[in-house]
Amino acid sequence: MKNLFVVMFFFVLTQMSCKYYSQSSDLDLLRKYEKQTKEILDSALENRKGYNYLTELCGFGHRLSGSDNSIKAIKWAEAKMKELGFDNVWLQPVMVPRWVRGNVEKATIVNSRQFNGRKLSISALGRSIGTEKNGITAGVLEVKSTKELKALGYKVKGKIIFVNKHFNETNFNTFTSYGEVANERYNGPLECAKYGAVAMILRSATSKYDNIPHTGVTAPFDSLKAIPSAAIGLIDADFLSKALQKDPDLKIKLNLSCKNEDEVQSYNVIGEIKGSEFPEEVIVIGGHFDCWDVSCGAHDDGAGCIQTMEVLDLFKRLNIKPKRTVRCVFFINEENGTRGGIEYGKYAKASGEKHIAAIESDRGAFTPRGFYVDSDSVKYGKIKMWLPLLEETGIDWIKKGGSGVDISKIESCKTKIGFVPDWQHYFDYHHSANDEIDAVSPRELELGTAAIAIMTLLLSEEGI
Ligand SMILES: [Zn+2]
Repeated sequence: MKNLFVVMFFFVLTQMSCKYYSQSSDLDLLRKYEKQTKEILDSALENRKGYNYLTELCGFGHRLSGSDNSIKAIKWAEAKMKELGFDNVWLQPVMVPRWVRGNVEKATIVNSRQFNGRKLSISALGRSIGTEKNGITAGVLEVKSTKELKALGYKVKGKIIFVNKHFNETNFNTFTSYGEVANERYNGPLECAKYGAVAMILRSATSKYDNIPHTGVTAPFDSLKAIPSAAIGLIDADFLSKALQKDPDLKIKLNLSCKNEDEVQSYNVIGEIKGSEFPEEVIVIGGHFDCWDVSCGAHDDGAGCIQTMEVLDLFKRLNIKPKRTVRCVFFINEENGTRGGIEYGKYAKASGEKHIAAIESDRGAFTPRGFYVDSDSVKYGKIKMWLPLLEETGIDWIKKGGSGVDISKIESCKTKIGFVPDWQHYFDYHHSANDEIDAVSPRELELGTAAIAIMTLLLSEEGI
C-alpha cells in the first residue's frame, strides 16, 4: 500500500508543472507527514469521538438562532471545548433575530367538491409572518417560477401563488439545482406580494421524493406589506398540481402562527490551540451552529461544527502541537442573517490578528471528495501539491472555488477553503425533519474530520 502511495505521488507530480518544490523535496514532504496523517485518519475512524459529540449535540433538539434550545447547545459546546482542554475557549456575543414558528401550521383544501378537507404537508418558511387567526382562504394560482407573475398580471391579485419549481435532476452538482430553487424561495414572497398575491406556497427544494417539507429563509420585506409563505412536501406538491387541473376553483385555507420577535443575545463559540512557533498567525476552522427548527440539523451544520472541533481534539489526543494557532469557530445565525460570521469578521479586523487561512465545513457529513480554494494562484498551487497526503481520506481533487458564507466575512484572510463532501444526498435532509442523527454515517463523518484535520495540519506546519 505504501509503495503504491509513493508511486501514485510521483505520478501526480509528473502530471503537474511543479514549480514549488523539486521532486525530492516533495517526497520529503510526503515522508514528513505520512505518519501523522495516518494517525489522524486511524484515530478519527477508530474512536468515532466526533460522532459521539454530534449525538450529544443532537440530544438538544433544534438550534434555531435566538431560541432557548440554541443557548443550551451553545453552553454545551463551550463546556465541551473546555473539557477537551483547548488553550482558550470563549463566547463571542452577537445579537440575532428571533423568529418563532408557533404551533399552528395548516393548509387545507376547501371550496372543492372532490378535494374538500384534504390537508397538505407544509412548513412555514423562515422569516414568514403568520396569518390572521382565522387563516387566509384564497384561490390558488400555480406557476413554475415567479418569473411568470408579471405576464399573469391581474390574475395574481388576491391569490395564493403555488410556485411548483422542480429541483433540476439533470445537474451532477446538486448545489446548482438547489441554488435555482433557493432563489425562488428567498425572493418569491416579495415577488408574489409585489403583484398582489396574499400568500406563497413553494415546492420544497429537494430531490428526495417524500412528503416532508423543507424550510429555509426568505428575503425581508421593507416597504412592501409582508405576506405569509410556506414550503410543501413533494408528494403533496404533485397532488395539488393535479387537483388544480381537475378543479381550478379549489381554494386553500392557510393557518400559520409564526412571527418575528425582537432580536436577542446569542453567541459564537470559539476554542483554540495556540501556535507553538507562530502564535500570532491564525487558522480558523468552523461551521455554523444554528439550524432550522424542524430537526437537530445533524448534517446542516451540526456535522461541520463537530468535525472542526474534533480537529483540535485530534491534535490534543495525538499530541500534535501546531506551529500556528488553530481556532475553531461555531458561527451562529448563518441560516437567517449571518450575524455570527459578520461579528467574527468585525472582530478579526479590529483585533489585527493575522488570519492566514480559514476552512469551512457546511455541506453535510458525506464521503470527502475535494476542497475548494479561494486564494491567489501561488497559494492555490502550494495547497494543490498536498493532494497526495489527503487521498487516503477520500479527497480526489483540490480546485479553485467558493469557500463558505461565514468565513467569507474575514476580509483580511487571503486563503479561504471550503470542504466538499459528496453532494448527491445532502438535499434529501437539508432544512427538513429528515436531518436527524440517524442520517449521518459515523465513517463518512470521521473521514471528513480527518480530511479537514490533515489540511489544517499542513496549513499550520507549512504556512501559506
Ligand atoms: Zn448550512
